[in-house]
Amino acid sequence: MVTREMIKKIPKVELHDHLDGGLRPETIVELAQEQGVELPETDPKKLARWLQRGANRKSLSLYLESFAVTVSVMQTKQALERIAYEHILDLKKENVVYAEIRFAPILHQKSGLNLEAIVESVLSGLSRGRKETGLEYGLILCAMRDQDYSISLEVAELAVAFRDRGVVAFDIAGDENGHPPKKHLEAFQYIRNRNFNITIHAGEAFGIESIWQALQICGAHRIGHATRLLEDMTISGTFIEKMGSLSHFIRDKRIPMEVCLSSNIHTGAAENFDSHPFPLYFKNGFRVCLCTDNRLMSNTTLSKEMEIAVEHYNLSLRDLEKLTLNAMKSAFLHYDGRIRIIYDVIKPEFARLRRETNPFD
Ligand SMILES: [Zn+2]
Repeated sequence: MVTREMIKKIPKVELHDHLDGGLRPETIVELAQEQGVELPETDPKKLARWLQRGANRKSLSLYLESFAVTVSVMQTKQALERIAYEHILDLKKENVVYAEIRFAPILHQKSGLNLEAIVESVLSGLSRGRKETGLEYGLILCAMRDQDYSISLEVAELAVAFRDRGVVAFDIAGDENGHPPKKHLEAFQYIRNRNFNITIHAGEAFGIESIWQALQICGAHRIGHATRLLEDMTISGTFIEKMGSLSHFIRDKRIPMEVCLSSNIHTGAAENFDSHPFPLYFKNGFRVCLCTDNRLMSNTTLSKEMEIAVEHYNLSLRDLEKLTLNAMKSAFLHYDGRIRIIYDVIKPEFARLRRETNPFD
């Protein structure tokens, strides 16, 4: 029996976490006051509920509307630095030991900041957080699907330019339907030519064609969500009876899938936890990990996502260890760094937890 107290102590790895989806509501209110930005609610609790109600409408495009509010107070160097710093502190509270945090620099230019200054401010906040907590991180830069390919190329160049200062990968985010990733091929080719890393949001609001494109046309190394890979499978009860070539490819090549349970319910990518394909993927050997996507918008934490998985899919402590190792193996941190965290932190901490709960294990 995995308890909430045990989950809290688990050393966690977060790979899919949006900076603009995980702010403290109190910080939004304070920043809005300082900056003279108007908010739909000025009480932090009410504001959080307003954002969460807005996000939970079973549609990715509606889900994304809530971000206009958070992004509106993320337009100065000081605000970006503070938000990034607090992000690390909040992850530390849940015992996250390594996190990849992502954001789209292009959305933070409304007060005239240039892209370099935007990325530098976020990195400086993350670095202050690391100094205080020891939590290690990588930053992922996102381009937006609905924007022109020349802008995504600029973001790809920016990501590579910052590769030695904490940026670990390039992603494409935003509304999936009607905005295929192949539109941004030049950006992906730029990243691949420079031996850099790609993760792509796919299979969330659109089906397997989007996942296929992300992998085989754009060269993604990881997939964000992949919820609708299920459409490539014939399911019988809790078993996969037959899989298409794309599913086999993903499992054979150990392509990581960043699963975000609560967010998927809110965007309508899955109807409810019990019909979510995550347990099918996990129990059939796919390389999946659990992530939060947007802690504020989806009113969640990585601990909460683990609790949901334990409750609905009957996961054991060994299962949670496997998921954590899956995540750390799939991180964009260099190989030696991943090995160090796995053997120095994750494995010993899980071993200690097991001894605590079952001395004979
Ligand atoms: Zn996401």
